[in-house]
Amino acid sequence: MAEDPNKRRLTFQGKRTTWITSVTLSDLLELKVNFPQAPLVMGNTEVGPRIKFEDEFYPVFITPLGLPELYFVDSTDNGVTIGAGYSLAQLNDALGSIVSEQPKEKTKTYRALLKHLRTLAGPQIRNMATLGGHVVSRPNYSDLNPILAAGNAIINLISKGKRRSFRFCMCFYFQWHFVSGMRLAQCQENAFAIVNAGMSVKFEDGTDTIKDLQMFYGSVGPTVVSASQTCKQLIGRQWDDQMLSDACRLVLDEIYIPPAAEGGMVEYRRTLIISLLFKFYLKVRRGLNKMDPQKFPDIPEKFMSALEDFPIETPQGIQMFQCVDPRQPPQDPVGHPVMHQSAIKHATGEAVYIDDMPPIAQELFLAPVTSTRAHAKIISIDVSEALALPGVVDVITAEDVPGDNNPQEEILYAQNEVICVGQIICTVAADTHAHAKEAAKQVKITYEDIEPRIITIEQALEHNSFLTAERKIEQGNVEQAFKHVDQIIEGEVHVEGQEHFYMETQTILAIPKEEDKEMDFVATALNVPRSRIACHMRRAGGAFGGKASKPALLGAITAVAANKTGRPIRFILERGDDMLITAGRHPLLGKYKIGFMNNGVIKSADVEYYVNGGCTPDESELVVDIIVLKSENTYYIPNFRCRGRACKTNLPSNTAFRGFGFPQSTVVVEAYITAVASQCNLSPEEIREINMYKRISKTAYKDMFNPEPLRRCWKECLEKSSFYARKQAAEEFNKKNYWKKKGLSVIPMKFTVGIPYTYLNQAAALVHIYLDGSVLVIHGGCEFGQGLYTKMVQVASRELNIPSSYIHPYETSTVTVPNAVFTAASMGTDTNGKAVQNACQILMARLQPIIRKNPKGKWEDWVNHWWGSAFISLLISLLRGYQTNMDWEKEEGHAFPYYLYGVSCSEVEVDCLTGAHKLLRTDIFIDAAFSINPALDIGQVEGGFIQGMGLYTTEELKYSPEGVLYSRGTNDYKIPAVAEIPEEFYVTFVRSQNPIAIYSSKGLGEASMFLGSSVFFAIQDAVTAARRERGLTTSFTLNSPATPELIRMNCMDQLNTYLIWSIIWKVSVKQTNKNNLKYQVTGSHINRI
Ligand SMILES: Cc1cc2nc3c(=O)[nH]c(=O)nc-3n(C[C@H](O)[C@H](O)[C@H](O)COP(=O)(O)OP(=O)(O)OC[C@H]3O[C@@H](n4cnc5c(N)ncnc54)[C@H](O)[C@@H]3O)c2cc1C
Repeated sequence: MAEDPNKRRLTFQGKRTTWITSVTLSDLLELKVNFPQAPLVMGNTEVGPRIKFEDEFYPVFITPLGLPELYFVDSTDNGVTIGAGYSLAQLNDALGSIVSEQPKEKTKTYRALLKHLRTLAGPQIRNMATLGGHVVSRPNYSDLNPILAAGNAIINLISKGKRRSFRFCMCFYFQWHFVSGMRLAQCQENAFAIVNAGMSVKFEDGTDTIKDLQMFYGSVGPTVVSASQTCKQLIGRQWDDQMLSDACRLVLDEIYIPPAAEGGMVEYRRTLIISLLFKFYLKVRRGLNKMDPQKFPDIPEKFMSALEDFPIETPQGIQMFQCVDPRQPPQDPVGHPVMHQSAIKHATGEAVYIDDMPPIAQELFLAPVTSTRAHAKIISIDVSEALALPGVVDVITAEDVPGDNNPQEEILYAQNEVICVGQIICTVAADTHAHAKEAAKQVKITYEDIEPRIITIEQALEHNSFLTAERKIEQGNVEQAFKHVDQIIEGEVHVEGQEHFYMETQTILAIPKEEDKEMDFVATALNVPRSRIACHMRRAGGAFGGKASKPALLGAITAVAANKTGRPIRFILERGDDMLITAGRHPLLGKYKIGFMNNGVIKSADVEYYVNGGCTPDESELVVDIIVLKSENTYYIPNFRCRGRACKTNLPSNTAFRGFGFPQSTVVVEAYITAVASQCNLSPEEIREINMYKRISKTAYKDMFNPEPLRRCWKECLEKSSFYARKQAAEEFNKKNYWKKKGLSVIPMKFTVGIPYTYLNQAAALVHIYLDGSVLVIHGGCEFGQGLYTKMVQVASRELNIPSSYIHPYETSTVTVPNAVFTAASMGTDTNGKAVQNACQILMARLQPIIRKNPKGKWEDWVNHWWGSAFISLLISLLRGYQTNMDWEKEEGHAFPYYLYGVSCSEVEVDCLTGAHKLLRTDIFIDAAFSINPALDIGQVEGGFIQGMGLYTTEELKYSPEGVLYSRGTNDYKIPAVAEIPEEFYVTFVRSQNPIAIYSSKGLGEASMFLGSSVFFAIQDAVTAARRERGLTTSFTLNSPATPELIRMNCMDQLNTYLIWSIIWKVSVKQTNKNNLKYQVTGSHINRI
């Protein structure tokens, strides 16, 4: 291709780096000679993260964008040649069109590539990442390289003097050739493979004699690994069971994953190596049968489903909610599904978050220096190198806190001692974020470890290390009742923690003497009266409890820095730091002893809960209170004892999180219900039904409630989801399929809204009516995206009888509404709504005389007249809120204002070979009473459910035994993505009464989180079906999250431990599996804390 002689190279010279854009191929080659170490920046999806997360530095970058030699597709009869500059999305399109045009037997490798191109990363990455960048960066988890290698792809290279273009040529064999790509990741999309493979086999024409065999595995070593020795030894063998048996043995010998391998999951990965090989074996057997059915028998019907991956479908759903009363005035928005007031701004990016605010004069950025030890004495802090770096203004330590460095037993800056990895020791203030970050790395801290270092709940129990005293609720005579039951079971369940993963990480902007964020700790830290601190908040990008207490600490840290430097400070935690420093949901260990009759009636329960609170109290006491109070869920157990305690460990302090412990502890309840069912030979739903509250009753702490809405949710969910028919269909499916199993579960919930402390149920509002008729509504609630401001506008609109367009919600601020309580526990609308309602009603009462004088007048006339009558047009209304009381001495009280019920039913399909699962359908019936805004409330219910599902299935926090958090970003921590949403998702609001709440509504923010556990128990049901078929005990404990690793290892079969696997084909499954019962899941890192 002729090069344009007029094109000129572009060079951009920065302070530290140079960026060169080559415009011709010869120029690019010349540049590569001059700067051999310079990366070619193509999609930048490999180079960019290396710079950002691994601190790599390149003085020169070369970008060859736009060179025609890198962007082409040349398809011939011998294969296809594709330019290295093609993005993976373009590669997908190109292969897609070739596959649609050419005969099937010619496109086997392309189809294998296309399958992986569907799930590799997400569309954004695939649009940017290039084929060349993918191959050259050789990630060990590469999804394409094993297939390219197995498909005999050729890489064409070019360098100066050797003129060849860089491209692949995919050659293919015809008829007797099979190629396949397989992968397993934590989620279907946007997750690196735990193990993947590309395999191809070529047979002597017309036979099943192996002529050529290629097996490549990803994620089992530092690069993609070839099982070449295994393949070599199998040449000439027949494609039969004995060959497979030998292949499994050989490949496990050849590919060694050391016990301390990065990423852990060693046994699981070894199992996957042979599970994927087994899948390939079946696929080829099936392929051979298709080619010559007489000569090559097909695989057993029961094994067919092992061949297919789960499809990625577009989810569908139906949402059912109330109609408003037809007599309601059309302008009254209450009860209508009104769009979130900032929805369009959220979607377009116009909604302003702190990071979007323009810089303030003299502003500095803050970067934290955190402890690398879990428990140690600080011997020295050397900041000299950091201070010497350009742009650095100051380093702030505990010494700089003018007031209290330890407010309410929390710690701003570590002093003398560190008590967890991730504890802030000091912060660096600099003119840019990059300078602050760079300098933070240069702060040298020396430590001396202190014993004991307590990381897990078990270690805390060993050392008697607790943050709180024990809480207890007891009714009946537990010990006595155990003597009169048919059976007793005991067990333990671990439910791991969860990261909040809000979209906007913790962000503070502190402006000295003018503005600050959280007040309590800021005032205490600076030693100034609270009235001198003004906190403003327009919105936060999600919180889920993570912004209940942590911003106060970080706000104080920022304020101290602003106070010391006298300059505005912007403190934005990067995702990894946010995950490390701010912690999240409390991991929980539940221990139970349950006494029951053979008919499934539970007579006695003794349950203990221990949560890992981390190193300081934070909200642990409240979490334990709530766990203990809600611990019976929907079941009446006449003799019931529940105890709870928060363990003190050397982990970052865990905090509030949607549901405050309820989502963890209630999994333990449903786990013992499932265990009782297994012992009684009844289904879990029968045990649920038998023991469920049926009429007006008292809880274990003697609070009266009416479970009528629960009964309705339960009945409707079973009926409308066709539960029993689908369960039968799943059983039929399971009989016909050995390697895939379906499971269903239906989980009931009794939830209490609010917090057992009256002072946290109050709220205040400030409403201004302006002379032009417009209205400003301010309250103490925070907008985290849940739509609180939108609902407050609806309330004001109804109360003032004016359209919503007249009303503007203003930011939350300590200046307008002081002493506000946190927006939490599903109470935001309840408390702030009543305060707004109250304020509006008082104003309307004052307006009444004017309205009476001019009843046909308009709102604007009345308001204008009001001014003339010297009425004040603003009002603060303080509402005391719900009265609750809980007497822990007597173990009784009215702990929460009201109850809310729900039931969810989920159906999953599990791949027993890999541990992957697919959520096929979820039905939720939830008691919403009367929803003020069904659009927002359904969003809360669906979002809560999905977040719960993440907690119970994919979200796995991994710590080292030394207390170092490994999972610090999206690579290692998987929140559910689109592919995880149920294929069919039905949400129904069940109508009930709630006279004590505004407009008879109910707070729906948190409850549905726990309903996500229906996915967990559906998985357990599917795994139970697999175990039953394999002759294994069905009484087994599934800990949360039910990751692919746990699912696969609990399914257990001959491949797990690699025994005489081929017996599966010939001998009764039950007999052989009896040998296999002793499997233990092991890993090189701690998952259960
Ligand atoms: C969020 C995320 C998710 C991902 N998920 C997956 C996944 O699920 N599965 C998977 O397999 N991969 C995954 N990846 C990896 C991704 O496929 C690679 O990052 C990508 O293919 C690299 O291509 P690039 O064009 O961005 O390379 P760049 O970052 O631009 O370059 C990478 C390297 O390749 C060199 N290079 C680039 N082009 C050429 C060329 N033409 N000739 C010579 N050298 C060249 C550069 O010098 C550089 O060293 C993921 C990446 C990200 C960021």
